[in-house]
Amino acid sequence: MSIDRFGLGDWWPRPKQAAAGALDHLPTDQWPVLAAKWLAAGFDSQPLRQLAQLQTGESPASRRADRRSSSRRGGGWAQPVGLGQPLPAEAQRLQRRQRAALDSMELMPEVLRSLGFDPAPANEEFVARCQKALDIVQHDLDATGYGRYQMRARFGGGWPSSVHAALPDGSYWGGGGGMSREMEGSWLLACAADSVSTTLKEIPEIEWPVCTVHGGHPTSIWAGNDPVDLIKKVAWWRCTNTGHPLAPVGLLTAETARTL
Ligand SMILES: [Zn+2]
Repeated sequence: MSIDRFGLGDWWPRPKQAAAGALDHLPTDQWPVLAAKWLAAGFDSQPLRQLAQLQTGESPASRRADRRSSSRRGGGWAQPVGLGQPLPAEAQRLQRRQRAALDSMELMPEVLRSLGFDPAPANEEFVARCQKALDIVQHDLDATGYGRYQMRARFGGGWPSSVHAALPDGSYWGGGGGMSREMEGSWLLACAADSVSTTLKEIPEIEWPVCTVHGGHPTSIWAGNDPVDLIKKVAWWRCTNTGHPLAPVGLLTAETARTL
């Protein structure tokens, strides 16, 4: 892959592709560079210029700012105890890059709308697809007496953008990866099932589903086997205690899993 003067490879998403989800393939720290490319390609708007100007921690201007702030720090500030040590340069750069990434994520939807490409419809379609998968998992919750946990697909944002199974009050566990845009079929269903199980485990701290024969993990709900897996391209629930297959996702019964 050749790298051009912008530091991006041969392929870079146009605004229309970006609004349809292609940004999931391009890390956020490259979005300001992408914005510069869009400007060079003839797109223009105030938010686009703002995004193109975001500091990534590598520009000469930010290095100058660094020197200024460290000389100020050396000038005898009365600093709170424990905060007296300036951050090492590497940590400062990292912090700036993280801030730039967050700013980029916040700004990008506005940039796309300003260019006439609204990212909302593609995101709504993504969430609706995930909800369909969650509806299949909901059969299993209902069949085992957990029907009061009505799972809703919730857009988690971030990069790459992800959707998670949320409880009726909107809470969810975002640490498990969730569902991403390129998933479909059994893979999406397995991740929907995993997201439901993970949210139940981490928020109300319930282990679900639990094998009728072996029960859950004997010491802790956080110690068992993964509850879901793809077996011959089919999403299956597994016994968290011993790992054997329980039932395909969507076909759980009171005979195979414990009920409330
Ligand atoms: Zn079992």
